[in-house]
Amino acid sequence: MAKAVSTKKSNTIKLKFDTSWSYAPAPESKSAASIKPQYDLFIDGKWTKPQSGKYFSTINPANEEKLSEVAEANAADVDKAVKAARNAYEKVWKKMPAKERAKYIFRISRMMQEKARELAIIESLDGGKPIRESRDFDVPTAANHFFYYAGWADKLEYAFPNRTTEPLGVAGQITPWNFPLLMAAWKIAPALATGNTVVLKPAETTPLTALKLAEIIQESGLPDGVVNILTGAGATGAAIVNHSDVNKIAFTGSTDVGKIIQRAIAGTNKKATLELGGKAANIIFEDAPLDQAVEGVINGIFFNQGHVCCAGSRLYVQESVAKQVIRKLRDRLESLIIGDPLDKNTDIGAINSKQQLDNIHKYIKIGLKEGAEMYESSCRLPSKGFWCKPTLFTNVAQSSRIAQEEIFGPVLSILTFRTDDEVIEKANNTPYGLSAGVWTDKGSKIFNMTKRMRAGVIWANTFNKFDPTSPFGGYKESGYGREGGLHGLLPYLNLVS
Ligand code: NAP
Ligand code: MG
Repeated sequence: MAKAVSTKKSNTIKLKFDTSWSYAPAPESKSAASIKPQYDLFIDGKWTKPQSGKYFSTINPANEEKLSEVAEANAADVDKAVKAARNAYEKVWKKMPAKERAKYIFRISRMMQEKARELAIIESLDGGKPIRESRDFDVPTAANHFFYYAGWADKLEYAFPNRTTEPLGVAGQITPWNFPLLMAAWKIAPALATGNTVVLKPAETTPLTALKLAEIIQESGLPDGVVNILTGAGATGAAIVNHSDVNKIAFTGSTDVGKIIQRAIAGTNKKATLELGGKAANIIFEDAPLDQAVEGVINGIFFNQGHVCCAGSRLYVQESVAKQVIRKLRDRLESLIIGDPLDKNTDIGAINSKQQLDNIHKYIKIGLKEGAEMYESSCRLPSKGFWCKPTLFTNVAQSSRIAQEEIFGPVLSILTFRTDDEVIEKANNTPYGLSAGVWTDKGSKIFNMTKRMRAGVIWANTFNKFDPTSPFGGYKESGYGREGGLHGLLPYLNLVS
């Protein structure tokens, strides 16, 4: 048994565990993935050089080594891709019988399953997430989205009974770095099923699985121009948003960029779905199964290094069990394994970029300055790469910035409450409203809480569960529109009669 010794220095407590054993490394093999030294843009079914001739590097955040270089698309490349998507829409995709479209989408799903191991390795190398997550969650869920939406393509009349639907045309899609392949699947699969064509830009730090998906799409025989994938920076995304021949914008990313996009498309005819930031409340009542709840909280915030828009980054514990829950959380924190993302034992991988790590450190300093008490794991961090110890803050005030603002890292703010009314008020008191969690033994309490909480997704006695059949999206500054499920079809359609 590990023995905990705590040493207190100002308001920081470091836990030192005498761990006399650890797991033997179980690394996944890099050689099962093929990454080219350089990638061009995927436009009109072909790999095309960027017009500027510029490329930028994508690195492995776990060791800062360069993995590959990818093309930087400018406005002229975006224009070329939008023209290809428009041409494919008018000449091929719009006219194709829906059941034929479905076969392509289904084929993409099957090919993703066949290449699942390679996709998972590349996702972990490029983004820093543990292989267990990319292997067991990201890649299968991404393939399932294609599979699920393939099923809807020829059944839209059942999704919208007594209505006639038509596709919008060209969809411009922009994705973030935390779930690169899954976000690409969330966006491309419903767009294709509803008869639209696509121009997609993945995030700058994690472009590789979207480029692998482009290879799969090319191999699947999908008609040229139906899906175009352009790598680049924020300016590439802005060029897609501002292109006059794009009919719909699907964006997942930060609330700040979401606001820029909203301003840019105001007064145009473009439809939009914006999936933005979050500050989810995870609520533990005194009657909850506490061990199960602690495991759910750990999964909710430390899963994927806290790089999750719906991460349970605020924990509200009922006062009567707070001491017990905090002790259990501290113990569990100490047993989390941090390190090589390709090791199958790893619980917490690398932070996605230096910029993100700096941002997390900024918030840890703010928490300490605001007077909260910090606990961090005593684990050792690798010397190269971007790493952050899993961290808890107690004695956090509701008005504190670490309880109000999105940190997007493995940092949990713990607050307490006495009554249902109090916790509802506190949980709803942020600018966001993406997700939440409730832990209690009472079914009636679950229904009461879920009715009164302003969050798009609320999990009860579990956390971070996803399924292609369930809609996902936010309230307030977490954005608007829904992705996933039947609801995810409508943002890509006009109901004409
Ligand atoms: P971000 O900085 O907003 O970037 C998202 C995407 O937008 C990236 O591809 C980015 O390109 C691009 N972009 C940047 N500036 C742009 C502009 N002016 N116009 C158009 N596109 C632009 O967000 P992030 O840091 O990658 O991702 C983290 C954020 O995403 C968090 O706030 C998180 O909560 C949110 N998120 C939300 C959901 C959800 O479903 N609600 C899911 C996942 C993540 P570059 O990479 O080149 O900067
Ligand atoms: Mg990278």
